[in-house]
Amino acid sequence: MRSRSTRRIFFQQSAAATAALGLGPSAAPGADPAMNHFICVTCGIQFGATEKAPDRCPICEDERQYVGHGGQKWTTLDEYRKTHKNVFAEEEPGLHTIHPQPKAGIGQRAFLVRTPEGNLLWDCVPPLDEPTIAAVKMMGGLAGVAVSHPHYYTTMVEWSHAFGKVPVHVHKLDAKWVMRPDEVVKYWDGETKSIFGGLTLVRTGGHFDGFQVLHWPAGDGGKGVLLSGDQPYVCQDRRWVSFMYSYPNLIPLGPAAIRQIVKSLKPFVFNRLYGAFPEQVVRADAKGAVERSAARYLGMIGG
Ligand SMILES: [Zn+2]
Ligand SMILES: [Zn+2]
Repeated sequence: MRSRSTRRIFFQQSAAATAALGLGPSAAPGADPAMNHFICVTCGIQFGATEKAPDRCPICEDERQYVGHGGQKWTTLDEYRKTHKNVFAEEEPGLHTIHPQPKAGIGQRAFLVRTPEGNLLWDCVPPLDEPTIAAVKMMGGLAGVAVSHPHYYTTMVEWSHAFGKVPVHVHKLDAKWVMRPDEVVKYWDGETKSIFGGLTLVRTGGHFDGFQVLHWPAGDGGKGVLLSGDQPYVCQDRRWVSFMYSYPNLIPLGPAAIRQIVKSLKPFVFNRLYGAFPEQVVRADAKGAVERSAARYLGMIGG
């Protein structure tokens, strides 16, 4: 067995070598290689550093998600780097999507929203590698990160660290779902929060108590865009949206929550709405679609 000091030197050298090879942000010099930030395979959320994988994933055990059918499984960023790559696509001027291939976690995409005051990463995806970091840096890096709700928290702390520890904006009401606490996670309180470049976070509640959407007024040529994550959820008939407490387990929201979502979006002008998954877009009259869809939903549940 190696002495403690030899072991430390070995770790320092291997950390430096790994950093020199450009193997990414989890290989920071000084990090203890015996510790890992484990990631839940099913939802993609990353945990604080531990030697052994956690016993359970509270996000997946919650009734809004599910434990994978083969039981709880874990992975790491290093594993993703061997099996996944992030694919970039331009959705419209100023808006790119970042989508892992093959599917990672729940399967959502992240968005890079570009403003004159810097770029925001909206929602997050689990894999992060050097090509992704280089591509985002080519577009100006990140000035901040904001994530709609815990299902997409994934590796948000890693993303922040890779871009100079920019703030990660999360609503305070969902603080208990953050599995990797870090100084970069900035909890906000209340109903709206302006960040930069005209962007506003709006708390709608509903799917999660602290559920937030992003209003981008410069989007769609100045007609306004709403980035909604899971809620409002873009339906297969993309003239419509819906609202659920749980999507995988088909648990609906009640009338008070639906009315609150519509009310919270009332002050904001938007013509287009993007959901979390590929092809989820209401191209035009999105605000009308939200209001018509809420009325249809309330009619169906007798609310
Ligand atoms: Zn999970
Ligand atoms: Zn969700």
